[in-house]
Amino acid sequence: MSEENSVVSEGKVVVFHYTLTDDEGETIETSKDKQPLPYLHGTNQIVKGLEEEMEGKSEGDSFQVEVAPAKGYGEKQGPGPQGVDRSEFPEDVELYEGMAFTAEAEDGSHLPLWVTSIEDDEVFVDSNHPLAGETLHFDVDIVSIRDATDEEIAHGHPHGPDGTQTH
Ligand code: ZN
Repeated sequence: MSEENSVVSEGKVVVFHYTLTDDEGETIETSKDKQPLPYLHGTNQIVKGLEEEMEGKSEGDSFQVEVAPAKGYGEKQGPGPQGVDRSEFPEDVELYEGMAFTAEAEDGSHLPLWVTSIEDDEVFVDSNHPLAGETLHFDVDIVSIRDATDEEIAHGHPHGPDGTQTH
């Protein structure tokens, strides 16, 4: 493997640090106080606008990218948060604001939902990702780039920064 080939492209596992801020410059999340994040390029594991910007980047590169909702978590859609009785949820599940879960529709399809608030026995849920409608500002540092293993390609996700993590 030559150094020149170590750029982000399909089939590479990219390990990166990031800080995500909103339009006001408030930090939404950051990896900088924890481990950098590995992802398998070309599999939609990270938002589209960020994955596109990653393409062709090299180890050690730092860059900033602004991602519009259409290439981030989508525009806000639907009627907004709907109230559901607490009893509709399993009793042993601890619910919290921002919690993601999957609901099964009558036709058997799966719908991702998020808890937006909890008021007494009423749980408000919404089909929009909490960051839907937001312009995302990413500050990225590429820590490493390596070829994915055959197993990682088959699974469609990385097995840790060095590919040896089991699950
Ligand atoms: Zn796997």
